[in-house]
Amino acid sequence: MTETTTFGAREVPLEDKQALVDDVFRSVARRYDLMNDLMSFGLHRVWKDALVTAVNPPKNRPFALLDIAGGTGDVAFRVVAAGGEETRATVCDINPDMLAVGRERAATRPHGDAVAFTEGNAEALPFADKSFDAAAIAFGIRNVPRVDVALAEAFRVLKIGGRFLCLEFSSVDVPGLGALYDLYSFNIIPALGGAVVGDAEAYRYLVESIRRFPSPRAFAEMMRTAGFARVTYQTMTGGIVALHSGWRL
Ligand code: SAM
Repeated sequence: MTETTTFGAREVPLEDKQALVDDVFRSVARRYDLMNDLMSFGLHRVWKDALVTAVNPPKNRPFALLDIAGGTGDVAFRVVAAGGEETRATVCDINPDMLAVGRERAATRPHGDAVAFTEGNAEALPFADKSFDAAAIAFGIRNVPRVDVALAEAFRVLKIGGRFLCLEFSSVDVPGLGALYDLYSFNIIPALGGAVVGDAEAYRYLVESIRRFPSPRAFAEMMRTAGFARVTYQTMTGGIVALHSGWRL
């Protein structure tokens, strides 16, 4: 029997998901960063800042971050800006269109030369074992067909003592906020995607994929299964987002 997985609200053959996801990000790449600001009222910056604080790049020694599914490099730029002169970040993403926007952004940034861009799949990272001090994935993991494989890969490329951080949309846990959030997500966001990017369907997928992602507790268990220790998570903004942390010890 064909193994299936979710693509937004749809059940699709596992081997079809990546191509569908790639179409979404090819379509939105040019307007991706603008849409993040519009959709989240700038809140994605606050959530990413919480991730950067947890990464805690040092000021006085070499530090290598891997930004998995890093897209246009938003997390990577923030980490090199927060760290010292010897902080480096590698953005790894499967989509050349997202990476192309990232490279253009790097050319205009003060710390842009500390960020490298590599095309690669989170399920088969093109890096040696134990090569990074930290690995992060922001709003990326729910797009990856085999989440367990991606977690095992993140674990493999981390040095012993390295930290993994995953920022992802979660489930709203504040009474009253849920209905409002649903209304906004299912009506306004696709309409905004239609108006700004010319692709309402892409943003319908993004919203629907959030609802199909495992709960923070279930995801924490998947991280433990992948080998991570001291797994914790915190939810933010009434549960809209969760930040997971685990260590390779
Ligand atoms: N991390 C960035 C941020 O927070 O702005 C980008 C997040 S964007 C919502 C999701 C990214 O995941 C896209 O750039 C997409 O190309 C990437 N992606 C999807 N499947 C992937 C895979 N299997 N391996 C690596 N990247 C993948």
